[in-house]
Formats: sequence, structure tokens, C-alpha cells
Amino acid sequence: MSGPKDEALKRRAEKVIPNGMYGHQTVRNLPEGYPQFFVRAEGARLWDADGREFVDFMCAYGPNLFGYRNETIDAAYVAQLSEIDAATGPSPLIVDLAEAFVQQIGHADWAMFCKNGTDATSMALMTARAHAGKRKIVFAKGAYHGSAPWGTPAPAGTVEDDRAHFMYCAYNDARSLEAACAEAGDDLAGVFAAPFKHDVLVAQEAPDPAYARRARELCDAKDALLVVDDIRAGFRMSRDCSWAELGVAPDLSCWGKAIANGHPISALVGSDRARTAAGEIFATGSFWFQAAPMAASLATLKLIKETDYLERAIALGERLRAGLAEAASRRGVRLEQTGPPQTPLIMVCDEKGDLDPKAGYAFGTELAARGVYFHPWHNMFISAAMTEADIDHAVSAADDAMAAIRETAAAG
Ligand code: PMP
Repeated sequence: MSGPKDEALKRRAEKVIPNGMYGHQTVRNLPEGYPQFFVRAEGARLWDADGREFVDFMCAYGPNLFGYRNETIDAAYVAQLSEIDAATGPSPLIVDLAEAFVQQIGHADWAMFCKNGTDATSMALMTARAHAGKRKIVFAKGAYHGSAPWGTPAPAGTVEDDRAHFMYCAYNDARSLEAACAEAGDDLAGVFAAPFKHDVLVAQEAPDPAYARRARELCDAKDALLVVDDIRAGFRMSRDCSWAELGVAPDLSCWGKAIANGHPISALVGSDRARTAAGEIFATGSFWFQAAPMAASLATLKLIKETDYLERAIALGERLRAGLAEAASRRGVRLEQTGPPQTPLIMVCDEKGDLDPKAGYAFGTELAARGVYFHPWHNMFISAAMTEADIDHAVSAADDAMAAIRETAAAG
């Protein structure tokens, strides 16, 4: 059970919010004891409605890169609010920010700003189709690209026609990518790619450079656009587009979550090849031109450029991984730790190596009771505001949590 205030809020929410909560932040799919509501966030920590404190390994599901309430970024946001924010036209900051993105991201010649990741991926889809007037899009099966009818994993409220022109391949499998592109024939508009395989509930996989290069070649051969969806991983793998590390430049990349450290803004950036098509689609929103999130994003980009946040996050992630591996082997628990250390997916397996959801949920409950917020089936995030002491606290809590789940297993 979460605390009494959280439980009372859940009961009120059930009356006025369908199912009490919706989307990725509902705790209905999380272990027992996870609070739904939080009243304070600072640095690497969260406090729930009952005042319980957590070291937060979810980072708002990605946006928290430099710590909650980062002083520099929030000061830029607040200062801009006292000048102009949402208004009849954008402020000059939109030009500054587009220039900053073009400078920061190797393949980018232009940028457009929106609010959520789904806005950016939907614009990428439309731009790919507008580019040469073609329809088919290839995705890796199981990859998430947003909650619009064309992308949502739940079929309710969608029709098959929403995905009528979609083809699927297996991530990192160049042969199946070729087959999907061949199936699209002369109608191939674009190929969507996750920067690495970061699907829920399955081991994460680094991108195979040969797969990435083949995606580039196939798009070139068919005058289709290659889209990297960097919404979740953007600026967590690299200070450039994640696939820049592989030497592969997409035509479009989608950005969101961390680009303003939690302030609401996302972006579609592209190369000159995609510029005309991006200028043809009609895409807009009442809040897309807000100046304050742009000021926050400029401040975030400056920190991305000038600090060692990325190297710190990787080092902290490696410390967590090593500490958990040591505790797990000592406790006789099989932990599957995959993905880049700064965005780890940590799942509990049974003796055969298969996912053990019951043990994974019990592990989550025990960790939450010890002030550590982990996720049992979604990749997590390390923020630059975490310290070695936070990591050590999490490892020590995990050690105790593993002892507790082993004891329960032995008793049951
Ligand atoms: N693409 C990826 C890879 C994502 O992880 C997400 C969000 N989890 C989205 C797109 C959609 O972003 P948003 O929820 O901001 O619309």
C-alpha cells in the first residue's frame, strides 16, 4: 500500500479521472506500494503526497537530465515568463533555438518546435510522406513512437486503416529491414528507427552499425527519408543525434523529453533534403511557440555543451550496474541488466533466465519501501544530479530488497 494521503487521492481520482489515471504515468501497471502522486521534486529526488522520499531512477520518464528544479535552467524559464511566453507570434528565441539545434546536431540544417514527442514523430511521418508523395513507412516491430492513433500500442479507438501503409521489420536485422522495404516497393516514404532497441519488457540492444548503414542505403536508393526517433535517448547517448556515434546521418530526427530539462518543448530537426517537405506539411499548436520553454531549452543546450553531464551519467550508471551485479550474485538473484548504463533496463529473471514478473514486482515493492524508485519493465534514466552516494544508497537498498525476495521465495 502506498501512504494514506496517496490512497485518498487515488480514491478521489477514480471518481473524476477515467481509471484514476491514464497513460504511462499510471501506477496501475506498477508494483504494490508505488505512490501515484508527488508533491515535490528536487535534484535526483521525489517526495510523494505522504512525504516519503525517493531517489528517482525514472527522471520523469526521461525529461530530467540535469536534476529537477535545475537552478540555471529554471532561472532562464522564469526570466522569460516575465517578458513574453505564449503570444500572437513567436519571440526571437525560436530563431536562436533553431540555430542552436543546427549547430548541435550534425545532420541538422533546420529545426521546428512542438510540445510532445508524439508531435515530433507525427510531423516526421508526414514529412516523409510529403517528401516524394509516397505512403509506406517501415518500423521495427515493438518500437514505441508515440500515442497518436498511428502509433499507440493499444488498439482501442483506432482503426486498422491508421496503420494501413506500415511495414515491420526486426530491429538490428538488416535482412528483415530489406524485406520490409522491398514489400513497400516504389511506395516507400520512410524508415523509422529507434536509436537503440529500448522496447519495454525485453532486453535492450545496442544498434548494429551494419543495420543503421543499410537503413541509410535503402532510403537513399528509394528516395525515402530516414527518421531517428531520439525522443527518449536524445542527449543521453551523445551530444549529437544518437546515430552520429555510428556515422549514420538520418534525414530527420525527433527530440523531446530532455531538451529543456522538463519544460514543455519537443523538436523535429532535419537536413536540407527534407526541408521542402517539412515546409509543406501543416503542423502547429496553440502552445508550440511559447518562449519560456525555448529559453529553458537554450539553457539546457548550453549545459549539454559545456558540462561533463554525459560522462558523469555513464560513470554513475556503470557504478549502479556493477554494484547490482555484485549484490545479485551474492544473493543468488538473476538480474538481467541491459542497455546503455545511463539508461538501464533492470529485470528479475528466474533460474532458467526467463523473465520473472512476480519477483520483479516484489523487488520493486521492496525498493520503493526503502526509498528507491525503480521500474520493473521500462528502461530507467540516470540524471546528472545523482551522486555516487545516491547510487550506493540504491545498491544497498537493492541488496536488502534481494535478500527480502529470496526469503519470501524460500518461505513460499
Ligand atoms: N518516441 C519515443 C521513443 C518515446 O519514448 C516517446 C515517449 N515515451 C515518444 C516517442 C512519445 O513522446 P511523448 O510521450 O512526449 O508524446
